[in-house]
Amino acid sequence: MDCIAIKKDGQIIDLQTAQALDIKLEDNEQIKADSSAEALEVLRHSTAHLMAQAIKELHPEAKFFVGPVVKEGFYYDFKLEHQLNDEDLPAIEKKMKELAGKKLPIERFEVSRKEIIKKFASDELKQAVLEKICDDVLTIYKQGDFEDLCRGPHVPNTRMIRNFKLIRVAGAYLGGDEANEMITRIYGISFFDKAELKDYVTMLEEAKKRDHRRLGTDLKLFTFSDDIGAGLPLWLPAGARLRGKLEQLLYKAHRVRGYQPVCAPEILKAEAWVKSGHYANYKENMYFTTVESQEYGLKPMNCVGHIAIFKDDLVSYRDLPLKFFEYGIVHRHELSGALHGLFRVREFTQDDAHIFCTQTQVKTEIIEVLEFVESLMGHFNFEYELEVSTKPKKAIGDDEFWETTTKGIMDALDENGYTYGIDEGGGAFYGPKIDIKILDAIGRKWQCGTIQIDMNLPERFDLHYTTKDDTRERPVMIHRAILGSFERFIGILTEHYAGEFPLSIAPTGVILIPIADSHVEYAKQLQKELQEIEIDSDVFDKNDSLNKRIRTAEKQRVPMIVVIGDDEVANSTIALRDRRARERSEMTKEAFIQMLNNKKSEDRI
Ligand SMILES: [Zn+2]
Ligand SMILES: [Zn+2]
Repeated sequence: MDCIAIKKDGQIIDLQTAQALDIKLEDNEQIKADSSAEALEVLRHSTAHLMAQAIKELHPEAKFFVGPVVKEGFYYDFKLEHQLNDEDLPAIEKKMKELAGKKLPIERFEVSRKEIIKKFASDELKQAVLEKICDDVLTIYKQGDFEDLCRGPHVPNTRMIRNFKLIRVAGAYLGGDEANEMITRIYGISFFDKAELKDYVTMLEEAKKRDHRRLGTDLKLFTFSDDIGAGLPLWLPAGARLRGKLEQLLYKAHRVRGYQPVCAPEILKAEAWVKSGHYANYKENMYFTTVESQEYGLKPMNCVGHIAIFKDDLVSYRDLPLKFFEYGIVHRHELSGALHGLFRVREFTQDDAHIFCTQTQVKTEIIEVLEFVESLMGHFNFEYELEVSTKPKKAIGDDEFWETTTKGIMDALDENGYTYGIDEGGGAFYGPKIDIKILDAIGRKWQCGTIQIDMNLPERFDLHYTTKDDTRERPVMIHRAILGSFERFIGILTEHYAGEFPLSIAPTGVILIPIADSHVEYAKQLQKELQEIEIDSDVFDKNDSLNKRIRTAEKQRVPMIVVIGDDEVANSTIALRDRRARERSEMTKEAFIQMLNNKKSEDRI
């Protein structure tokens, strides 16, 4: 397989650069044209250039800003005299294929800063890019007539770029700043392997069908309103039922694991946020208000309230670990451009808990939380991965604290046979953490729950417990959320199940369809009995034909549909269509209720 670049001191260096700097390929780790992250980075950045070249050929007036590789492919930001939309993408792709087929060499040149400024004199976007770079010697990459200011890395020629797809056109503020003009962005993806591209495109199509924003509207789960504010979800009755069921399941799961429910206020004095470090480290994400000359901050996290509850009583070593949990509503300011359905909102509810424990209990507690995670993920058929995040740039606490706690987390995971990735610099400002990444039904990865170890807040708030010998000791605080937030998790569940929720959380478990008016009373009686065992149902007794009502019921994606006619009323039976099992069966009303009751008692996290 072709070598397309090398890796030297953690940096990817393409062949063009290696040749210019006289770096021998044999002496270094070689990057082949395969599916590794490094190989795809080189390929995708080259695909971004190929796209820019194609756009330039089709629209000679085009000016280009930057074209980076991102987690899901690449994009390029640019400016045209007219608006592009998704219908323009096939023409650009066609041009790209044509240019790729020419096997144009991709060449690298070193140019002085002065020369570059002159070269791009009439291009205000490149001037904006240049303002951000202070090097005296810069590099240009050239393929055919197209050249671009670029650090690389690139594949050696355009022929290597074969399997790509342009995904969508979007708008983007120049340099990501809302104060700047809006320019055009095109997202795309590419692979060396044809089959991988095919799988990716299939996944995208499937994801579109499952989009929780669309299903959320179709199934009447939630909505947003301009009158209320962006990023502030409104839960409609069906969505609130779903959420309520999830809350109840999780409430039980916490209680059997020894957690105590607590509630703390939404707004806390600003001084509390100064003490916690949020004022200095997290202020830009928070909302503040001043009442009677006292400044308050809306909580972005629930920790400070739980700390105040911990401090309300004298705590003995016998009380530890002490576990407080709350469905804590938090507010965090997100840029309006970052808001996305239920995935990124400004108000959300966390399944938040704080475990106060001794140093020696930390490992056991981490493992217990991971057991909880396993149980929840298993319930919803999610696979998941763990990632340990280390000290970020903005952090409190000394290096020794960070080293010992980070090592403590990894030891706990290692000793218990967990595998995990590492996210350098991804920790919370007060401590390292374990992130839980969910893999959904179509293979996408989502960041959800987190477990964080914290010795800073107990120090700042002077928390202590009394030991066996009646001395005072500082507890460790573990912050943890398993779902993360109800909003995001329900968004993920909606896409994971494509709206076909399992009975344990389905907003409506059963739709009852009486064939004629004379069967309505029986249906309504059954509905009452179902409500008593906490199964929500709906009676479809509108004046539509039976077939139409069955079709409407099926569109609602409910687990079960029950049809009631003369026979059913006479014999006290029901005719059941189980959508998930794709089965039809007849049974007595009692057997039906018994079956649902059994299913419910199996629903345990
Ligand atoms: Zn570039
Ligand atoms: Zn916390």
